[in-house]
This record gives sequence, C-alpha cells and structure tokens, in this order.
Amino acid sequence: MSHSDVFVIGAGPAGLTAAYLLTKEGVSTTVIEADPTYVGGISRTASYKGFLFDIGGHRFFSKSKEVVDLWKEILPQDFIERPRLSRIYYDGKYYSYPLKAFEALNNLGVVESGLCVLSFMYKQAFPNEKPVTFHEWVANQFGERLFSIFFKTYTEKVWGMSCDDISADWAAQRIKGLDLWSAMANALRNSIAPKGFKDGTKAHDGEVIKTLIESFQYPRKGPGMMWDAAAAKTRAQGGTIHMGTTLKSLAHDAAADLWTITAETTDGTIRTFTARDVISSAPIRELMESVTPTPVSKPSAEKLRYRDFITVALIVDKPDLFPDNWIYIHEPSVKVGRIQNFRSWSPEMVPDEKLACLGLEYFCFEGDGLWGASDGELIGLAKKELEQIGLATWNDIKDGCVVRQKKAYPVYDDAYRFNVDTIREDIAANYPRLHLVGRNGMHKYNNQDHAMMTAMLTVKNILAGKDQYDIWNVNEDAEYHEAGASGAEEALKSVRLVPRPVGKVA
Ligand SMILES: Cc1cc2nc3c(=O)[nH]c(=O)nc-3n(C[C@H](O)[C@H](O)[C@H](O)COP(=O)(O)OP(=O)(O)OC[C@H]3O[C@@H](n4cnc5c(N)ncnc54)[C@H](O)[C@@H]3O)c2cc1C
Repeated sequence: MSHSDVFVIGAGPAGLTAAYLLTKEGVSTTVIEADPTYVGGISRTASYKGFLFDIGGHRFFSKSKEVVDLWKEILPQDFIERPRLSRIYYDGKYYSYPLKAFEALNNLGVVESGLCVLSFMYKQAFPNEKPVTFHEWVANQFGERLFSIFFKTYTEKVWGMSCDDISADWAAQRIKGLDLWSAMANALRNSIAPKGFKDGTKAHDGEVIKTLIESFQYPRKGPGMMWDAAAAKTRAQGGTIHMGTTLKSLAHDAAADLWTITAETTDGTIRTFTARDVISSAPIRELMESVTPTPVSKPSAEKLRYRDFITVALIVDKPDLFPDNWIYIHEPSVKVGRIQNFRSWSPEMVPDEKLACLGLEYFCFEGDGLWGASDGELIGLAKKELEQIGLATWNDIKDGCVVRQKKAYPVYDDAYRFNVDTIREDIAANYPRLHLVGRNGMHKYNNQDHAMMTAMLTVKNILAGKDQYDIWNVNEDAEYHEAGASGAEEALKSVRLVPRPVGKVA
C-alpha cells in the first residue's frame, strides 16, 4: 500500500494538469491511467508505422492567459501556428466554413438561397419563445431551411439521435454568439477579404466566436506531445504515474478523513493506495460505481449517457489530397462525419512526403453495429466512402488502422442536468475531498483549456485547504469572459464561490 497526499484518476489534460501543478508545489501525488501506453486521454496522439494522428483534430485555443501560459511552460519550444481551413461537404458540393457569401449563394442557387432568407425572416417574426431542443434553438437563429442544410444531418451523425431530443444547452454552448446576422456579415467579409480575420470572427458585440477561429496553436507532433511533456515533468518533480491501471474501488473513511483506493493493472494485479484528497477525471458514471459507501446519487450517475467515436486512419498514395485541416461531411448518404487531413495539422504528422494520412471519423454507441465491426470491415467502409465522396480511389489507399474511443462525448439529453446536479450536491455534502474535474469527470462538453482550468482551480482549492473556487462555475462565459492579460484574473474573480440555492445550476 502506498500513500500520497493527492490521488489523481486519469492522465488526460485535466489529471496531468493537476498532477503537474501539485508536484510543482511539492505535494506528493499519485496518478493512475487506464491506458497502458498513452497519456493525454482523448487529447492523445496515436501512432501507426510512424504516422501520427489525433482522436479528432485538437486545436489549442484559449482566451485564458493562465492556460496559455501553462501550455508554454510545459512545452516551450514545440508549438507551431497553423492556419485553419475547413469546409462542409453536402449534396456533392463544398462550402467554405466559415461560410463565404457568394460561394454559398452559388452552391445553393438563387431560389434555395431566397427560400433560406424567407424561412429565417419567418422565424425572426415568429420565434420559439422558449427553445428547449437543439432544433428549436438553431431554427430560431438561422431559420428552418438553413437548419436542415447546415446543422441537422451532421448533428444527428454526431449524437445518433434526433435534433428534437438534443438539449438546446449544447447549441448555446457550441454555437454561442452566432446567428444568421453575424454569419452573413462574416460570410460577406470572407468573400471580400478571405484572410482578413486572423484570430477569429466577431459577433455583434465584438466578442470572438470560438467556432470560427481562423488560426490556432498546435504542438508540432500533435497534442500528445504536450501531455507526454506534462507526464515527464510530473515524474521529474517527484510524482508517480501508473500506466495500465484502472480504478476498481474508492472507499471513504469519514472518521480518519482518508480515502483507500484499489486499482487493477492490465495483468490483473490489484494495487492499494491511500490519499487525503482524490481528483477524478474518470467518467462520473464509472466513478460513482466505485465509491463506497454507495453514494445516494448513484442512480443519477447510472443514467448519464455517452457517445463513442472511431477514427479510421487511411494512408493514401497521394502527397496532398486537399488543403483543409478537416472537412465536415453533412452528406447523409455516407456514415463518415468528418475527415481529418493530418499533414495540414502539422507536416511532422506524416513521415513520408509522398503519402497522405486521413482520419475518417465515425460517431457511434458502444455495442452498436459500427462499434462492433472488425477493423477490416471499418477500413473497408472508410475506403468505400472516401471513394464515394471522390477524394481518393480504392486503389490509392495503401494501408489503414482503427482507433476506438469510448465515451468521447458526454450526452446532453433532457435529464443530464438534473442528474449532474444531484451528483454535485451529494459529493459536496458527503465527500468534500473528492474533486471532479475535466470533460467526462464533470460530464461537460468541453475543450482541453476548460478541462485544465477546472484542474488548476481544484489545485488552488486543495493548496488553500478550502473551496475558494466553485469549479462548476468555469463555464464558457466565466472562462472567456474577458480576453487579454487581465482575462485569467477576471475569470478567477468570476468563479469565486457565491452562495447559491441548493439544486440550482450555476
Ligand atoms: C473528436 C474530438 C475533437 C476534439 N477537439 C478538440 C480541440 O480541437 N481542441 C481542444 O482543446 N479540445 C478538443 N477536444 C476535447 C478534448 O479532447 C477534451 O476536452 C480533453 O481531452 C478532456 O480532458 P480530460 O482530462 O478531462 O479527459 P480525457 O481526455 O477523457 O482523459 C481522461 C483520462 O482518464 C483515464 N481514465 C478514465 N477512467 C479511468 C479509470 N477508471 N481509471 C484510470 N484511468 C481512467 C482515461 O483513460 C483518460 O486518459 C475534442 C474532443 C473530441 C472527442
């Protein structure tokens, strides 16, 4: 049995941020990571015969100066600035994304464009006063016709459910600040001055719209480079990281104020640890299954749902297939949702100049037909669909491999908020030294910077010995409230604990 002050579950961005900062302050810290090989979680960089690829492309963009400073502290030499180029493929045509007005008009045709405007004006006159679903929210902002062309098919591929069953929360978080007016203003600017907006486009109030950022930082060998460096620095500072080690049980002794943790290694060995504080970035559903005594909120945790994800990396015998970083495939006749072009992310991702490496992304549920398909079947499907879209022929594709990612997306269904609230209240009342951080750790559809910020504030709380910050208040608004040098300080101010009624979401 080994003891540390803090025990961290998961060596993804949230877990490693916490471990790095704690060990930097001399706090003894142990991390367990289920994956036997990779740190970085969903932000890892996988490799196959020297080809490197992300689980989805991972842009590094944050308005939080504290987060950006930490990226540079951990990986000072290896960031490159990359232009963002992405398009939408729909009905046999490519649309720049962000949209360009004249190109969109040309692709849609004058009649369809006119109908889109009329349907938008109708929704402006008769909006849904209280949009509850994704469909209602987007139709309010863009009109029904544009919703069905640019949002419906892709969103339903991602979530595997109807846009009428997806909460408006997701749209409000992901497409925040964007409506048809801003999109049209942008589209016009993009048509006239395509390179004019280096740092992202602006909404009416001048706020930068994250969805449309036009350049980003990227480690030259992918995001995994960042998390490998964080793990190495954590170890150099005295921290321990056990790879291939999965949480089994988490028992709280209230009298001793101590956690006893058991974990299983890939060869079946059970290891036991003790710690005063536990930071968890594991999916809440799994975590709450492990906690003893059984938490009262366990039934809520059991109801949380996830969407899973497969990347089929194809190595193509062509040097450069297209200039985009990725293409959204809205086309309903194929299952692929997005295609990444890894050389556009960084030339160092592809070891041979004569070859291209593409990532065809499929969204699925663990246990469904796609998830259960063999690697050979998935590679066959990806080759067929790439040919159907017209980006390469079957014979151009030399090789391929499959990477499966369980629980890539926490699902925002109509009950998730209530369930997460119930769990929060339970943990706050009964397990104050259990700290939830990160994406599945908080059931939050977040980016790396948000996952990191929740870990950074948790570390501050642990070091202070009291909850100075309510990490549940680190939402997109709080974190990105103020840009620039004072941003981090403002963000920190805006997440200071304020009394709130029980059960109310911040
Ligand atoms: C397709 C896609 C594209 C994305 N693109 C971007 C992007 O462009 N930019 C960006 O910033 N973010 C992006 N993200 C989001 C980013 O991947 C996440 O925000 C980030 O990885 C979350 O970090 P985390 O540490 O909270 O969780 P994770 O990355 O999920 O890491 C959790 C870690 O905990 C481990 N773990 C889980 N359960 C256990 C257990 N029981 N025992 C031991 N270990 C366990 C896991 O193996 C994993 O390593 C994207 C995500 C997806 C799915």
